[in-house]
Amino acid sequence: MTDLNTLTLADARDALRRGDTTSKDLTEACLRAIDGAGALNAFVHHTPEIALERAAEADKRIAAGDAPDMCGLPIGIKDLFCTEGVPSQAASRILEGFLPQYESTITAQLKSAGAVMLGKLNMDEFAMGSSNETSVYGNAVNPWRRSGEDTQLTPGGSSGGSASAVAADLCLAATGTDTGGSIRQPAAFTGIVGIKPTYGRCSRWGVVAFASSLDQAGPMTKTVRDSAIMLGAMCGHDPRDSTSANLPVPDFEAALTGDIRGKKIGIPREYRMDGMPADIEKLWDDGAAMLRDAGAEIVDITLPHTKYALPAYYVIAPAEASSNLARYDGVRFGHRARLDHGDGITEMYEKTRAEGFGAEVQRRVMVGTYVLSAGFYDAYYNRARKVRTLIKKDFEDVFAQGVDAILTPATPSAAFGLGEMSDADPVQMYLNDVFTVTVNMAGLPGIAVPTGLDKQGLPLGLQLIGRPWEEADLLSSAYALEQAAGFVAKPGKWW
Ligand code: GLN
Repeated sequence: MTDLNTLTLADARDALRRGDTTSKDLTEACLRAIDGAGALNAFVHHTPEIALERAAEADKRIAAGDAPDMCGLPIGIKDLFCTEGVPSQAASRILEGFLPQYESTITAQLKSAGAVMLGKLNMDEFAMGSSNETSVYGNAVNPWRRSGEDTQLTPGGSSGGSASAVAADLCLAATGTDTGGSIRQPAAFTGIVGIKPTYGRCSRWGVVAFASSLDQAGPMTKTVRDSAIMLGAMCGHDPRDSTSANLPVPDFEAALTGDIRGKKIGIPREYRMDGMPADIEKLWDDGAAMLRDAGAEIVDITLPHTKYALPAYYVIAPAEASSNLARYDGVRFGHRARLDHGDGITEMYEKTRAEGFGAEVQRRVMVGTYVLSAGFYDAYYNRARKVRTLIKKDFEDVFAQGVDAILTPATPSAAFGLGEMSDADPVQMYLNDVFTVTVNMAGLPGIAVPTGLDKQGLPLGLQLIGRPWEEADLLSSAYALEQAAGFVAKPGKWW
């Protein structure tokens, strides 16, 4: 029998229902895989006792015939989600020692559906980054390597631990969050599937806030079907999040027909960037051809404000972050600096925040407070908000012309080497988000699907962007792309 930790959610669910395996066996297989994968630095807080306890409960529910889809399935949780009594640090020193007394809505929903939490996953500090290198735990490592090389590569960020763990079969799936691309970029870098739902689909309650008007959680999985299954358990209305939508949750899995005949798929001209690697250009053209062969109509579209999205994002996201992070002051949460005799409250704030936040977080707080300051508010923050409206309108216009989904590359390159960007201008790192931030700015759903390998044997992904609230339709188009691409490659085990 295949190693249980390598199963998809769908296959493991079906095996559990047939009585071919138990949640205990699945969970133990994952715990063994995690123990053997320290080199990936994907799991940063291990919760084997909780996992085995939940597996035992799940096995009882399955035996009693009361098993929702996620029941008994072992998953990892990004460190950004508050989990009761379990460290939830957002990969920051400032939350050292913080043990939440409550459970985020999403992890509570997964728990009540019977999912088994294996532990917490590495990420960029406060989800700020694209390489997992801003983490207080040190970077997670991509299980993939360039052929014939042993250079350690980034799994992407900020949900780098989630991506690495799913790609290396340490868990069957994981939660991620995406403010500007943090589900889709790491999914593309590791050959897995990741969907950012429409803003408001998943509750943000209990998820440590980065930029509240952009943050959305979503599943990171081995297949599109698995994303459909897990998203169903994660979303739904939550009165504790005022931006959570009160809409029914469709049966995403049942909608996976993969029938895209007659659908209009737009190819946005502005996403063809100068200097884009030939491999990515080809991947994109091949993806369009696959969708055309499956019966879709491929149309050229224009999203004219695309080039302003990244600069506007890097005003809005830091502005909101500077406000959200004001609560970490050494009084209420986690770390507090050691004070010198005579220090007052101002010194306590200053020393705690200087010690507790890493360089990237400090940069964002400074940029954020600057663009919100009285003299610059109109020039930067208000202007960025206007740009955001124009970006949203670009998408609305295209959807009004009958376009059902938009196909783009997920990332401008394959996974890069760890440390490769550390001396570069921070803007180089920000460029990773060029194809993904537009989707957050417009609040739309977007999914990354692995569709090929580059010349060096690394996975590459394409992104499909859908109409708001139409994740079911988007997943079905992604399923068609996945079927046509037939991506089955796995990283060679070196860890
Ligand atoms: N890489 C982007 C940033 O650093 C996006 C991060 C995210 O989506 N959380 O802001």
